[in-house]
Amino acid sequence: MTIFNFSAGPAVLPKEVLQQAQAELLDWQGCGMSVMEMSHRGREYMGIHAQAEADLRELMGIPANYKVLFLQGGGHLQFSMVPFNLLRGKSSADYVNTGEWSKKAIAEAKKFCNVNVVADSADKNFTYVPAFDTWKLDRDAAYLHYTPNETIGGVEFDWVPSLANMPGNVPLVADMSSSILSRPIDVSKFGLIYAGAQKNIGPAGLTLVIVREDLVGHANPGLPTMLDYKIHADNDSMYNTPPTFSIYMAGLVFQWLKKHGGIAAMERANIAKANVLYAAIDASNGFYHCPVNKADRSRMNVPFTLKDGLDGDFLKQADARGLLQLKGHRSVGGMRASIYNAMPLAGVQALVDFMNEFAKKNG
Ligand SMILES: *Cc1c(COP(=O)(O)O)cnc(C)c1O
Repeated sequence: MTIFNFSAGPAVLPKEVLQQAQAELLDWQGCGMSVMEMSHRGREYMGIHAQAEADLRELMGIPANYKVLFLQGGGHLQFSMVPFNLLRGKSSADYVNTGEWSKKAIAEAKKFCNVNVVADSADKNFTYVPAFDTWKLDRDAAYLHYTPNETIGGVEFDWVPSLANMPGNVPLVADMSSSILSRPIDVSKFGLIYAGAQKNIGPAGLTLVIVREDLVGHANPGLPTMLDYKIHADNDSMYNTPPTFSIYMAGLVFQWLKKHGGIAAMERANIAKANVLYAAIDASNGFYHCPVNKADRSRMNVPFTLKDGLDGDFLKQADARGLLQLKGHRSVGGMRASIYNAMPLAGVQALVDFMNEFAKKNG
């Protein structure tokens, strides 16, 4: 039976990548060591590390005046590191609140500064993206933070807030944990991008930060060393031992992306997959329901509910068909199908076939 894994994270990885890692696990390219056993200061690992960064820069078109940092601590630590480093003497930051991950970022930032919530979709239970012209931006904000894809609510921005022509030259900060590498973006529009690796990059344990150089070096010197972007930037992410195996795996994913047409090709595939799944939900005469405003539906995480009382049966039967980890987040309920880059169209088609059968039997 073919297994398709719809986990929200840690999530499915490309099979080719796992196979390559398996083939190299005991002996990386004839050196007699596993990547896990290599000194991070050694020639072999330094090469892996540099290649991963170079491939990521190429894939995303990251300009030379941006640092790429391979850190740890997940998206959660960035909720603190962003205000730690980017306040630069200012007392307030702008945040957009579009769901569970925005809320967590906001709650953490409140420990460091005043948070100005410029737009909030709580009024409709986080089922839409507030229109840009309604945002109450502060020209004196240290930065504007938003979550381009809300992994739990399944709400995704199909546009990037354009701060370039706004007063104040406020840097844009994005938590791209669940949408990075899923569609082309213009990195130069952002001051800082961060992402936990375990959704669309590689295994857990690695956190990616892409930050414009002028935003590095402003942390309060009384703060813990490990929370200062400058320390990591100055040491090529090797101030302390980096998560070497996770970076190696991320590097294999970057090579896989390059081999398969890069991010533009991924976006085309992701649109096709999302269209198939949303079409099935919308054509089910209400048997399945996605609460998210159509224009703001996520290409990566598709939440949907079923007619009352059928969740347990649906999950059991999906499992038996090899369609795994479809249970929705506890805060939303129902189902959630995460269809990241590594999910093939065949997986979405298998899910839709099952959904149609299930609806017919139980409708
Ligand atoms: C998963 C996720 C996080 C949390 O990441 P951790 O690595 O568990 O800290 C934060 N933001 C978004 C958008 C996520 O999807």
